[in-house]
Amino acid sequence: MLRKLLLWGSENDFFANHVARLPSVRRAVRRFMPGETSVEAIQEAARLSTSGIKSVLALLGENVTEADEADEVTRHYQGVLKEIAARDLDAEISVKPTQLGIDVGSDVVATNLERILTVAEEHGRFVWIDMEGSSYVDRTLDLYRAVRSRHQDTGVCLQAYLYRTAEDLTALLPINPSIRLVKGAYAESAEVAFPRKRDVDENYLQLAQTLLDEVRSGGVRAAFATHDEGLIRRIQEEAAHRGMTLNDVEFQMLYGIGTTKQAELAAQGHRVQVHISYGTAWFPWYMRRLAERPANVWFVMRKMVSR
Ligand SMILES: Cc1cc2nc3c(=O)[nH]c(=O)nc-3n(C[C@H](O)[C@H](O)[C@H](O)COP(=O)(O)OP(=O)(O)OC[C@H]3O[C@@H](n4cnc5c(N)ncnc54)[C@H](O)[C@@H]3O)c2cc1C
Repeated sequence: MLRKLLLWGSENDFFANHVARLPSVRRAVRRFMPGETSVEAIQEAARLSTSGIKSVLALLGENVTEADEADEVTRHYQGVLKEIAARDLDAEISVKPTQLGIDVGSDVVATNLERILTVAEEHGRFVWIDMEGSSYVDRTLDLYRAVRSRHQDTGVCLQAYLYRTAEDLTALLPINPSIRLVKGAYAESAEVAFPRKRDVDENYLQLAQTLLDEVRSGGVRAAFATHDEGLIRRIQEEAAHRGMTLNDVEFQMLYGIGTTKQAELAAQGHRVQVHISYGTAWFPWYMRRLAERPANVWFVMRKMVSR
């Protein structure tokens, strides 16, 4: 119930305009992001790299409705790619189709993504494409297929909570995709997504097994993006069962969540990446983080009364 309420709040303008201004909420957000600027995010990525943890940088913001705004986001990412290359930082970026103008037009998002990928390729950097609400899945996968033949260092996110994802994965395999597998963070109906967490977890494991098989036979990059320690353990067991090395298995987590586990996995020899989000448009993204773990709401409440 609380999850549904928080996800509803994430799309509500009144909350975005009022709750996001509360100083206590702004303080609580710092748990999940090192700062609002790319400079702070890049500094944190440099710090994490000293422990063998790589970063994926993402500018917060979504559902852009003006071409100018999408153009500004595009130029921002081009600058970030040049900056991480100049600092020789082993970091990647992750972009949201709705932030690059998918709602403005399919040509707008395609052009902006191409502009980002061209700079990424010039600097040898990898670009991930986030997956957003279910109404965007077809268009996002079409976008990915269109760019993948020209830009090998591109990956897309798939969500285990959607019934369709097993078929989407099978359909993508012929192009040797790079896949980031997540459970899924949006409010979805039972028509399109498993309502029970248990079923989502089970589907995640099945998809992970398919991906491990593909990684082992070569050609596919898979990143298991989860903080679920039970699931991480199962993936490790499945990988060992297939004779894979620790370095064959890549995990991704969000900044500020599962920090001890991130360090432990990196120390064991897994490839570990942490997604660092930054920017001022953090409200819907932050509400999704609260929805993932209702105990986070009490963390915010404590911050509210602690000052
Ligand atoms: C690197 C990365 C990229 C992502 N990209 C996308 C994307 O493109 N599209 C999309 O729909 N979703 C994305 N997500 C979010 C994802 O879909 C889930 O909502 C989120 O990861 C929580 O699920 P979980 O796998 O961690 O498992 P859960 O079962 O939700 O959580 C497992 C445990 O992790 C801890 N945990 C999880 N979330 C939190 C939190 N917010 N705060 C504190 N503790 C927490 C808790 O201890 C919890 O018990 C991404 C997640 C990661 C890690």
